Amino acid sequence: MAIATEEISRKISDLQSKSAEEVLKWAFDAFGSGIALASSFQCEESVLIDMMHKTRGSDFRVFTLDTGRMNEETYEVMERMREKYRISIESQFPEREAVEKLEKEKGLFSFRQSIENRKECCGIRKVVPLNRVLSTLDAWITGLRKEQSVTRTDTPKIELDVPRKGMVKVNPLIDWSSDRVWDYIKKNQVPYNKLHDQGYPSIGCAPCTRAVQKGEDIRAGRWWWENPEQKECGLHTHQK
Ligand code: SF4
Repeated sequence: MAIATEEISRKISDLQSKSAEEVLKWAFDAFGSGIALASSFQCEESVLIDMMHKTRGSDFRVFTLDTGRMNEETYEVMERMREKYRISIESQFPEREAVEKLEKEKGLFSFRQSIENRKECCGIRKVVPLNRVLSTLDAWITGLRKEQSVTRTDTPKIELDVPRKGMVKVNPLIDWSSDRVWDYIKKNQVPYNKLHDQGYPSIGCAPCTRAVQKGEDIRAGRWWWENPEQKECGLHTHQK
């Protein structure tokens, strides 16, 4: 790891009052090529990619977890971002044998049958590929925002990723509102996922995401058959 744990602990409070750009600058100064953005190509990652491009040109890493169940609109915005910012996007795929076994034994929609089955699918298609790429990094950047979920209300701008020992997780937009995200996108003419125009405030895999009604919770369209407290896929866990 490029930076001592004690230094990170001090920085957690120092950076709480800093802007997203300042947090990103600190992160790149601290971790250089050992940091990458995890992008699911929602509006928040559109903002972060534009922000990073403004200060670093194309000199930053972006990876995505291609679960094999993504929406066409997500691939389309990936391609627009790749072309506009001249960046390479590192697609991380699940292990072929694990997906083949899952689909052979439980079919294509086992995730609707129980929380255990849903977590099994997210584990194979998301968590294992994420842990694989994170094992090559010192830190990762996310597009998390507090208002996205009841499970994210106490998340700081940087944190030690305790389950992934020693990793640092950087959340530059954690205190941004949805309006602020969209103001940035419009002002800077940033490409964004067109599913947002169709009532999707949060975008994941196609069979596990749907549009929400006006006034519904931001994450109401994700795994809508589960309780809000359980709506995480295992990518984002932090110490209470
Ligand atoms: S979001 Fe749905 S399809 Fe995607 S990995 Fe999780 S359970 Fe599987």
